[in-house]
Amino acid sequence: MHERPQPRPGIMDIEAYVPGKSTAPAGVAKVHKLSSNENPLGPSPKAIEAAREVATRLDVYPDGSARRLRETIGEAHGLNPANIVCSNGSDEILGLLAQIYLSPGDEAIFTEHAFMVYRIYVQAAGAIPVAVEETDERADVDAILAAVTPRTRIVFLANPNNPTGTYLPIQEVRRLHAGLPPSVLLVLDAAYAEYVRRNDYEAGIELVAANQNVVMTRTFSKLGLGGARLGWMYAPLAIVDAVNRVRGPFNVNATAIEAGIASIRDREHVARSVAHNETWRNWLSGEFEKLGLRVTPSVGNFLLVHFPEDGRHGAAAADDYLSQRGYILRRVTGYGFPNALRMSIGTEEANRGVVSALAEFLRA
Ligand SMILES: *Cc1c(COP(=O)(O)O)cnc(C)c1O
Repeated sequence: MHERPQPRPGIMDIEAYVPGKSTAPAGVAKVHKLSSNENPLGPSPKAIEAAREVATRLDVYPDGSARRLRETIGEAHGLNPANIVCSNGSDEILGLLAQIYLSPGDEAIFTEHAFMVYRIYVQAAGAIPVAVEETDERADVDAILAAVTPRTRIVFLANPNNPTGTYLPIQEVRRLHAGLPPSVLLVLDAAYAEYVRRNDYEAGIELVAANQNVVMTRTFSKLGLGGARLGWMYAPLAIVDAVNRVRGPFNVNATAIEAGIASIRDREHVARSVAHNETWRNWLSGEFEKLGLRVTPSVGNFLLVHFPEDGRHGAAAADDYLSQRGYILRRVTGYGFPNALRMSIGTEEANRGVVSALAEFLRA
């Protein structure tokens, strides 16, 4: 007999996710939050308007199947809405997939610097997380395939990955899929797909459409709706069916549904966000390199910046220095980068401010 309720074995081994900080030390006049890959242009004005309107009807339950939202997503991406499930952030879908397809003792694979929530959901399902080495801070298809065992049930691939910002061309993703047994689910987490402008990149829509064991997850968070919590997956009908049995019946709230519909229709806001990102990501990479800092080549809306090995100019000291000036970046020690910071692309003011502050920091 235990003296109090006991979580299932393994639950207390989970290291809880640590979100990006949003506050600066006391006394800092202006805070620039660059720690959570939010959109520096904010939400679409049309999404703000839609959220205001829905506020007067918050007494009414949302449509549990989010049908109009799925239809709008389907229109925008050329997908059958029946193959779409919406969720409370894409994190929710990732968790549901782990809960549904993993049994205790099963294995799920991801790469060594992969987005941290995969490990959490795998452990929460009682399964075994298998972290595979990357090559040059990028997923390595051969290493992933070499890690597959008869117990493997899921491979999570963040493409592009957070916090590295690197991506696999679609040919490599196809090669990965071709090497997996049909019983293994390949989860393509395309949280940053809108920001990628590479001819050899695809989020995975065709792979999903042509196979029974691939799903693609997407999010509205990185385009201005992080606070609304809205994500979705495109998946074969059998997987849609399983997820719909397990998810909360009203997992997507009314505000998220209306803001999401308005946001996806505001193509101009998406285009402006992507253009801003491209301009400032290029500028920042160049400036950091001029300062002697290595930057991992990123196709996302953030950069992974590596600091000198001497402690005085290391990532921890840089983080303190920047925080005191109101620039909140992300420590990524838990992702295997003790001496790097991840910086979300910010407003012009924030971007210029970080570069000036780091120039001073490195001179000191
Ligand atoms: C931000 C992010 C997500 C999901 O975020 P939600 O806000 O839950 O939709 C998923 N995967 C990666 C790699 C991310 O960086």
